[in-house]
Amino acid sequence: METANWIGGEWIKPRGQQRDVLNPSNLSEKVGTIHFSEETDVIEAEAAAKEAYRKWSSMPGAKRGDVLYEMAAVLEKNLTGIAELASSEMGKPITEMKGEVLRGVQLLRYYASEGVRSQGNLVPSSDVNVLQYTKRVPLGVVGLITPWNFPVAIPIWKMAPALITGNTILWKPAEPASLTAFHLGELFAETSLPDGVVNIVIGRGRDVGNALLEKSEMNAVSFTGSTATGQRVASICAARNIKYQTEMGGKNAAIVLRDANFQKAASMVVSGAFRSAGQKCTATSRIIVEKEAYEPFVEALKAEMKPIKVNHALDKDAYMGPVASKSQFDSVSEYLSVAKKEAELVVEKEIEQGNDNGYFINPMVVTGISPDHKLVQEEVFGPLAVILTAEDFEEAISLANQTVYGLSASLFTQDLSKAHRFLDEADAGMVRVNQETAGVEYQAPFGGMKMSSSHTREQGQAALDFYTTLKTCAIKHTF
Ligand code: NAD
Repeated sequence: METANWIGGEWIKPRGQQRDVLNPSNLSEKVGTIHFSEETDVIEAEAAAKEAYRKWSSMPGAKRGDVLYEMAAVLEKNLTGIAELASSEMGKPITEMKGEVLRGVQLLRYYASEGVRSQGNLVPSSDVNVLQYTKRVPLGVVGLITPWNFPVAIPIWKMAPALITGNTILWKPAEPASLTAFHLGELFAETSLPDGVVNIVIGRGRDVGNALLEKSEMNAVSFTGSTATGQRVASICAARNIKYQTEMGGKNAAIVLRDANFQKAASMVVSGAFRSAGQKCTATSRIIVEKEAYEPFVEALKAEMKPIKVNHALDKDAYMGPVASKSQFDSVSEYLSVAKKEAELVVEKEIEQGNDNGYFINPMVVTGISPDHKLVQEEVFGPLAVILTAEDFEEAISLANQTVYGLSASLFTQDLSKAHRFLDEADAGMVRVNQETAGVEYQAPFGGMKMSSSHTREQGQAALDFYTTLKTCAIKHTF
């Protein structure tokens, strides 16, 4: 497979450099070739999106909804193919990847139905013979900048609400998910989506991302990625006074209290920490255990880790695959060598044999470091979790909040009163009791506090607010 850009309904091969994509589960296997775009490709895509805007935004919402239903159907029909491609490109195990594609289908259907829902409110006027109301209107051309760790679900959770509300799109996928993005475009090209409504420009962040932010005339930008890049996106958009949202990093805590069900808590902590090889913004990376619970919980944790299979991403029984890329492998390996030197090992799981030609890393839990240690404070974005102990519930909450991030947090307990206090006192956008830190449902708002987010939300009804602006309309009908 070789990538091309999808601009104005045409497939155009950009003139920039190219790079082969090797399967992170087996580096001897070539999966495809990426052709990198340049600034001129972004400008062309922006012009195509602008041209398509009038027609698309004036189409009745029900008709736009029909197109989204078609997109859902084509994605569902090709679920296995796109999941296999994504697993081969960025290493997410196939079973998990299929679940992600299904999430994309659900998101498209959820937002398709929004085409016929209410778009505003009637506001009583203080004057006579005046009809006053609010109405949501689209923003125009929206730039979507997405990460590689959810190569299907994240682009769709931006695209679907943007489209149903009448915006047109310039999408810049992350480099390690370029083949998957190209194939998604190929599938959507089979629907009756009008030319230029969705445009895909494939390339590097520093070229395409920069051109999108600085050279094009986007009306809004929705970004998901690291906090460092997100801050840059935010400052450029603020200077241009265009609407933006940035969903960024996390350092999510799971608290285990002494009255928790240790076996169930351990199972959810392992899933939160190691599914997707820990490469989820909502991954559990700090496990805060009440002192009295430490021994039984660690025992349960070791038992949960024992059967997990770290293997080729296309093995349907793989619990964890490789990390996505060489840069991920290098950066996570550096954190692991710090952990090996400075922390105490709790449990480590060996990868399956025969995986010495991929970016595989042993999942590991460590302890014995202070709350201000870099392994407790920095986002590792890999299969490494740290246990901290707390004297009691109060100290556990305080430790959970000792971070610049505020994306998600979990508490495991049977105590309803502590559950409610946690939901109130944890400084995170998504707080959950007896559930893992990852895995928020598509109909619920998704986003963080503090350095994790621009304080906007994605998914659910909240996304419709981001992709629209409110007009207050008034008409004096008897004049
Ligand atoms: P990243 O910031 O490196 O890249 C994200 C996107 O930004 C990519 O498309 C990239 O090409 C682009 N980009 C890079 N430099 C750019 C620049 N100078 N100008 C414009 N665009 C640029 O992040 P990543 O490595 O792709 O993803 C991992 C990060 O994403 C982690 O920090 C993770 O926590 C975060 N993440 C957050 C959420 C969330 O919803 N909060 C979800 C998934 C991932």
